[in-house]
Amino acid sequence: MNVIFHTVSAIGVVAMVTDTSIVKPDNYRAVTTVATIALFAAVFFHGVLDYMPHCYPVHSKWDVVIGLCIIATGTILVRKTYRLIVVAAFAGCILPDIIDLLPAISNKYMGWEIPIMQPIFPGT
Ligand SMILES: [Zn+2]
Repeated sequence: MNVIFHTVSAIGVVAMVTDTSIVKPDNYRAVTTVATIALFAAVFFHGVLDYMPHCYPVHSKWDVVIGLCIIATGTILVRKTYRLIVVAAFAGCILPDIIDLLPAISNKYMGWEIPIMQPIFPGT
C-alpha cells in the first residue's frame, strides 16, 4: 500500500483517539496512554488498508517523498502536547512496511545482502 495512504490513515487515527478534554499538557500519563493506543491502532489500520484492494496511483519514489513530507509537516506543526501521539501514529502506520520491506529495499538500492525473512505482517 501507498505511504501516502498510510500517513493519511495515521492522521485519522490521531483524530480518532485524541480526546482534547483528557489530553492536557500536564497529564503526561494520558498523553503516553493515548500515544500507545495510537501506535497500535495505526498498525491495525495499516493491515486493514493493505488487505483492501488498492492500486498505486503515485510513483513509489514520489510516494515515499510525499509521505515523508506529510510526516515531517504533521510532526512539526502539531502542538507540543499532542506531538508524541502524532509521532506514535505515524510510526505505527509505517512500521509494518519498515519491518517487512526495508531489508529487501535496502538490498536493492544499497547493494547490501541483508537476509530476507518471511513477512511478519502479511499483505504488506
Ligand atoms: Zn503495508
